[in-house]
Amino acid sequence: MDEADLRERMVKWGRSLFERGFTVGSSGNISVRCGDGFLVTPTNSCMGFLDAARITKLDAGWNLVSGDAPTKEVPLHRVFYEGRPQTGAVVHLHSTFATALSCLADVDPEDAVAPITPYVVMRVGRVPVLPYTMPGSADVAPLVRARAADHAAILLANHGPVVAGTSLESAVFAAEELEETARLLVLTRGLDVRHLDSAQIAALNARFKLK
Ligand code: ZN
Repeated sequence: MDEADLRERMVKWGRSLFERGFTVGSSGNISVRCGDGFLVTPTNSCMGFLDAARITKLDAGWNLVSGDAPTKEVPLHRVFYEGRPQTGAVVHLHSTFATALSCLADVDPEDAVAPITPYVVMRVGRVPVLPYTMPGSADVAPLVRARAADHAAILLANHGPVVAGTSLESAVFAAEELEETARLLVLTRGLDVRHLDSAQIAALNARFKLK
């Protein structure tokens, strides 16, 4: 994959996520696998105004090659690539409704996002909530490592979603689907909601296997 093209796509999708309110201020970060390492959004950067030339380049061992210093949430991204080899990109947001779900004490920590639409099953799958750790702490690594092989998306308790995809676009689309489903779940909370049943979920998983 052409690195200059990947940088431009990070700028484009960062701006798009910012303009639609999926990220505010300097919150959230994106990483993308490129030929000989990784491109990562810089620390304290605003996703709406990324500079392609200043995006952090890390080598295959996650050492700084060029650009600004990387986001402090690199450990979070790194374990997804290590635990889920098909990962081409990771998107971490503090998007409102997915973060709201991560704060609810009565959400099932093994299945926080109920299957209320086919799209969340196809694009996101089952989403666990991992215990709270301080942002940027390496303590998050073993927690994510244990789940990354089986889950493309997780919620960090009282913090927000982390979503992996085979490409930048697939990770962004899955993060958007997770946020919109979380919005539906919050909106319908307390109502008598009909979920997809196990046969419907099995049929979706058989036809649209999540990578
Ligand atoms: Zn964060």
